[in-house]
Amino acid sequence: MTFLRSYRTVLAFALAAGLFTAALVMGRTPQGLPTLMLPEDQVTHVSDHVSVIIGFPNIGIVVGDRATLVVDTGLGPRNGAIAAREAQKLSRGPVLYLTTTHYHPEHAAGEGGFPTNTLLVRTIEQQKELEQRGMQFVEMFSSRSAQMKELLAGVKFRPPDITFDREITLDLGGVTARLFWMGQAHTKGDELVDVEPDSTLISGDVVQNKMVPNLPDDNASMKSWVEVLSKLRSTSWQHIVPDHSAPGDGSLIEQNYQFFSQLEARILELKRQGKSADEAAQVLLAEFKAKFPDWPNLNAIPNVVQHVYKETP
Ligand SMILES: [Zn+2]
Repeated sequence: MTFLRSYRTVLAFALAAGLFTAALVMGRTPQGLPTLMLPEDQVTHVSDHVSVIIGFPNIGIVVGDRATLVVDTGLGPRNGAIAAREAQKLSRGPVLYLTTTHYHPEHAAGEGGFPTNTLLVRTIEQQKELEQRGMQFVEMFSSRSAQMKELLAGVKFRPPDITFDREITLDLGGVTARLFWMGQAHTKGDELVDVEPDSTLISGDVVQNKMVPNLPDDNASMKSWVEVLSKLRSTSWQHIVPDHSAPGDGSLIEQNYQFFSQLEARILELKRQGKSADEAAQVLLAEFKAKFPDWPNLNAIPNVVQHVYKETP
């Protein structure tokens, strides 16, 4: 019982830190810890105007003739400086935009490493959330390891230069990037970036590649997340770039929608039948292992069950 309880705490914590998922797709240090530093000179070309630094998390770089957009910062200013440098190597124009897919530290807390004239853009919903919980997450991550503490030392969040409600389109010169918010999912302020001429979606945590939903706290909503995925199904993209898993093609949306909606429906069904969350978790773990055998982090299903039980009255 004690083991189970502490295991669950550790699992929830690891999920909150994004480490559980990230460790599955990233390199590890000799100590077995996931690499927190972004790699240098290792940019992957995804489409005409989009490149990605594969790391913790994946960093999108959209390059136009006039401006460059970086999506997410890496953990702390040292990583932010790497992301900015990689972007500058690819840049053709003088303007640098930065946006963040959500407020968690590996996505937003590296902003201080960007040049001071960088134009920071984000949705109002995410900005509110960052002001409410941003430092709390920085402290939580800092308590995880000495390296995280060092990387996040002195982090402060500055106000954005541009905010938007539902969407904004940035003209980068020869390519546009539509930044948009569709509602609560992994956080309240999840943002996605549609690089329209490339048919490329930079999807943050909202669309991943075979990842069980990461619902770290009550700012996440399984119900709303399924609704967001359902709406995304009406658009097709050629390339999808998630933040904590490998880039893939447009089929990732349907793949996520099927997994998420089926999991949610089964959890609610078992809840209605009077099963406890622990019983439902055991049933669904077995069921989804049989149905989706190649998803690597199915052991995160009990966390989803707990979350949905709490979320649904
Ligand atoms: Zn996150």
